[in-house]
Amino acid sequence: MSEPADPSPRDLPPAVDGAVGHVAPDADTAAGEHDASMERIVELCKRRGLIFPSSEIYGGLRGAWDFGPLGVALKDNVKAAWKRSMVQLRDDVVPLDASILMHPRVWEASGHVAGFTDPLVECRSCNQRFRADHLEPNAAGEVVCPNCSGREFTEPKAFNLMFRTFVGPTEDTSSLVWMRPETAQGMFVDFAHVQLTSRQKVPFGIAQVGKSFRNEITPRNFIFRVREFEQMEMEFFVRPGTDEQWHDYWIAQRWQWYVDLGMRPGNLRIRDHAKQELSHYSKATVDVEYRFPFAWSELEGIANRTDFDLRQHSEFSGKDLSYYDAERDERYLPYVIEPAAGVDRTMLAFLVDAYREEQAPTAKGGTDKRVVLRLHHALAPVKVAVLPLSRNAALVPTARRLNDLLKPRFDTQYDDAGAIGRRYRRQDEVGTPFCVTVDFQTVESDDAVTVRDRDTMTQERVGLDRVPDYLSERLRLSSR
Ligand code: ATP
Repeated sequence: MSEPADPSPRDLPPAVDGAVGHVAPDADTAAGEHDASMERIVELCKRRGLIFPSSEIYGGLRGAWDFGPLGVALKDNVKAAWKRSMVQLRDDVVPLDASILMHPRVWEASGHVAGFTDPLVECRSCNQRFRADHLEPNAAGEVVCPNCSGREFTEPKAFNLMFRTFVGPTEDTSSLVWMRPETAQGMFVDFAHVQLTSRQKVPFGIAQVGKSFRNEITPRNFIFRVREFEQMEMEFFVRPGTDEQWHDYWIAQRWQWYVDLGMRPGNLRIRDHAKQELSHYSKATVDVEYRFPFAWSELEGIANRTDFDLRQHSEFSGKDLSYYDAERDERYLPYVIEPAAGVDRTMLAFLVDAYREEQAPTAKGGTDKRVVLRLHHALAPVKVAVLPLSRNAALVPTARRLNDLLKPRFDTQYDDAGAIGRRYRRQDEVGTPFCVTVDFQTVESDDAVTVRDRDTMTQERVGLDRVPDYLSERLRLSSR
């Protein structure tokens, strides 16, 4: 593709401001220091019903997890924040929900049938299988089996990560389909249709959130590497020659998204891929990495996919996917910049980053450990907890009425079980920004309630009729 001269301002991204933390491809991977260990996060998620093993009563299924009531809310909030920033606040990105099962030729064209593989080795002693590139040498420089300490492995074999299934009643090659391992291909094969019907002009993007499946050889680290997960991906189609500027632009945008949602910049970095690390379709890729308790690891890849995918699908389908640029009177295959993030990994990073163990004063004048998730308000599964001081009949009707009043505006939780201090701790543990307590003073004298702030633990007396507006003013329900 020849480099077109003189891009018009419309072709180019707005100037990027704000620094992003780039590091070299071989930057160290040392684990981060957090109040949270992975064990504590897993334990908290299970105990509070956020995330727990799939089909646990049957012993679970490796690499599969279920999201309980508060987990659903947190996950939905992560996805909503992404959609808001990537679609709602922009005029140049439109959404898509492509189906998970696609024509099998899609995966031949994309290169996944031939090349979406990981190197698989088997321990010759216990026959357990591992991803060769996940086996780390020990202090003596030897690679030993993590299961039985055996030292001999088979030669690495290319193992395709795509799950297969069959459509219809016959199970032969003509009915074979793949479970999509990424949502991206839906955006490529639907490119022309979406462009035409949404009347978008290049540069523009198509965004999608949805499930993907990968038969990972070694799922691990809780929901970090699983076999069924969700992705938030956006394909941004640009004029060739403007791709590098757009790549930088999207790297800065995506960095800012995490920071705006409260992630500590010191735990985030942008790692450039080395040449030999690049995927077959990529001209340049960076990973947004988070400093997890186990190591710096990828949350999101931001790739310059060139015109590889549109070219392949044009060739394999016989349908011309080139774009006619009326302003310039030229036809070309757009280049694509792709920010591709994982919902589950991002959610895990937000949990780890928000987790704090602190000393908090007790009613008796001492101190006690409290666990608090300092989640951005927009991510918190519950925004407001309504707590009658006790189940006393004098308090319940007012507390219920207040809960009903708040429910249409905020995600609330009504909790009247146990001592008030314990209830505050329960809400802190799941990151509820505000607790509203109805006490005897409320019903006997001042028609006001106590509003407690999760982060400062300060309490303020607020008139009952002012509570909804007070909360609206104090809650930051979006990141921008
Ligand atoms: P990895 O190198 O960790 O296997 P990848 O580079 O293959 O990831 P991509 O193909 O770039 O991942 O997918 C985009 C995003 O999808 C990843 O950054 C990650 O957040 C998410 N993702 C990919 N595989 C998994 C998985 N097995 N479990 C959870 N999330 C995943």
